[in-house]
Order: sequence, then structure tokens, then C-alpha cells
Amino acid sequence: MLSQKALNCKESPTLAISSKAKAMKKQGLDVIDFGAGQPDFEPTGNIKKAIINSLDKKGYAKYTPASGKPELKQAISDKLKRENNIEYTTDQILVSCGAKHSLYNIMQALVDKGDEVIIPSPYWVSYPEQVNLADGTPVIAETDENFKIKSDKIKEKITGKTKIIIINSPSNPTGAVIDDEELKKIAELAVEKGIYVISDEIYENIIYDKKHISIASLNEDIKKLTLTVNGISKSYAMPGLRIGYTAGPAEIIKAMSNIQAQSTSNPTSIIQDAAIEALNGSQEELETRKNEFRKRRDFIVKRLNEIGLKCSNPDGAFYVFPHINQDSINFANKLLEEEKVAVVPGVYFGKENYIRISYAASMEQIEEGIKRIEGFVK
Ligand code: PMP
Ligand code: GLU
Repeated sequence: MLSQKALNCKESPTLAISSKAKAMKKQGLDVIDFGAGQPDFEPTGNIKKAIINSLDKKGYAKYTPASGKPELKQAISDKLKRENNIEYTTDQILVSCGAKHSLYNIMQALVDKGDEVIIPSPYWVSYPEQVNLADGTPVIAETDENFKIKSDKIKEKITGKTKIIIINSPSNPTGAVIDDEELKKIAELAVEKGIYVISDEIYENIIYDKKHISIASLNEDIKKLTLTVNGISKSYAMPGLRIGYTAGPAEIIKAMSNIQAQSTSNPTSIIQDAAIEALNGSQEELETRKNEFRKRRDFIVKRLNEIGLKCSNPDGAFYVFPHINQDSINFANKLLEEEKVAVVPGVYFGKENYIRISYAASMEQIEEGIKRIEGFVK
């Protein structure tokens, strides 16, 4: 009955574990959810107001241009110039239904059967699946002991079929940020070989002690090969509202827009207005949240190492990726059953014997959750 594509497509484990934890909570169980890859904050008041105001505009429920409202594309263009030092015109921008959708459109627009896409491991769960859905071949490149990708490791994997290199800094699931020098070398490599780069920058606002650098800002040559992907889910605590975007060469953006126009059409009209407000409005809250995440990271990394789960100190995002030295699916299942703590097995991110812990949870929950993990591993 089902297509080969559907048969090959795996369930998203991150979303599945979050749903399971939610269902258990609904049954009245005292679950600590370290599985969810979404901020535990609410959107700021101005964003909520923008949604309400949008409802009062005549025609709010009509289709917008399939590739997104011009005002939102302009807000994205302004943001990329202001914060990332990259100049994109609005015809180089496509607004989609979440960054996941942006990435999906890129794969559909660029990847043919047999094309290879290099993915540093540990990787976010959807990258290989999206490459598979485009009939491409995911090629995994290993990171170092601190989960940092080095250009040499990417170089080793390049063949005549390599079409794209994906970079994700800070990374989901490890929080690692690519070193500046390596970023430059990756750019040089891509330019030398004429390979496209997808730069997934969705966690750019959660970097603790460094400044985020967009690979496309390094020079014009790499910009021509880069698809810069970002969204509002993580920075503005709006993951369920589904807005993401891609900025890149106009010809690729046009092809992606055609694919989007034939599949989903525009992202939700009123949420596009909220995204305009998110990008143009006050950015103050972002710093406050980052400081809160930093406190949690410092606490959780210290505690995990104390209880014997070796854990490197991530530079960003809201994940830690400790070593558990045993089968990760078994560990995560038992931890949920016995201690009611949800985490995501590392094997789903390409790395067995590790787990991903999302610290997008209150300090009280983190303290309690780590106490339960301590009891579990003793
Ligand atoms: N990239 C990475 C690395 C992520 O962790 C996520 C989180 N879901 C996404 C892209 C997609 O984000 P969204 O579709 O919510 O914009
Ligand atoms: N990106 C988040 C995570 O890794 C949200 C779930 C998803 O879209 O995969 O948990």
C-alpha cells in the first residue's frame, strides 16, 4: 500500500518522545520532560498583541503570497543585515512553515537521486531523513571529542557526488559551536569544490561566550553557495506558530518557492505578522533568556559530571549530550518508566551510548530531574 518513500521515512523521535511525556503528564504522572526541543518560555507580550491586531485587519484570513508577505521578507532582510552582516534582497528570501520546512524545500530543490549530502554527527534527527526523502544519500562526518566539526573531517567525505554540506552551529543535539578558523576553512573548501552549504542557524541567539558568525558573511564566493536557514521557533519561543526562512541565491529560492506554492502555499497569515513584530520589535528578552539558559547549563554540566555522566560544556543551544556508556534506547526507556524523566536516546542523533538532555525546563525541574537520574545510574 505505502510508497517506498513512506516506508523508509522514520518517525521523528524528538517529537514522539515529547508527545509521550505530555501524555504521561496528562495521566497525572509526575514527569520531568528533558525531551522537548523547545524553549519553556512564552512569547513576549508584543508578539501576542501583533497576532491579536492581525485578526482585526480586513482580509487577515486570505492567502498571502505563497513565499511570504513582502513586509516579512523585508524584516528578515533587515535582520540579516543588522545582526548577521549579510545583504539579501527580498527575492533571495523564502518564508516557510518552520525552519524544518525550509530545510525540506532546500533538499527538494537541490538534491537528485544519488547526490550526497555531508552531515556532521551527532546531527539533528531530521537532516538524514530529509535527504532520504529527496532520494539523496546522507554521508556522515564525525566531530571531535567536544563534538566540534573540523574541515578535514568534511574534506575526507567529499566525492564527485557531494552536493551539499550541512552545518548547524550551535548544534542540536550537542550545543557545540564551530570554531571560527574551522568555519573559514569549511567555506574555503566549499568554494574550492563548488559545494553548497546549508547553514542552520536556528540557535544563533543562544551562544554563551562567543559571537555567532554566519558563514555567508565571510565573503561573496561562499555567500553564492550558502543557504542560510533560520526561524522564530527558538529565539522568540514560538515553535508551534511555524515560521522559518531561507536566504540564498535567487535562482534556488525561486525553485524552492515553486515547490512550496505547489505543496503548502503560504505560512499562516496572522503568524507572519507576529514574525514581523518578533524581528522588528525589542530584542531585550533574548538576552534575559540566554542568561537564564546559561545558569541552567552551568548547573547541569557540573551535576552530570559529578554523578559520573561525562559531559562536555556546550557553547550554546539548550542541550547537553552526556556519555552514559550503555545502550541509549534502553537507558531512556527505563529512565522514563522508572524515574519519569524523559530524555532522547543519542542513537537517534547518530551517536550510541549518549543521551540528549534539553534544559529548556525550570531550575526546580532540572534539580529534581538530575536527582532522579543520579538515583537511576547508582
Ligand atoms: N534545525 C534544528 C537544528 C532544530 O533543532 C530545529 C528544531 N525543531 C529546527 C531546525 C526546526 O525548527 P522549526 O521548524 O521549529 O523552525
Ligand atoms: N528541534 C526540536 C528537537 O530536536 C523539536 C522537535 C523537532 O522538530 O524535531 O527536539
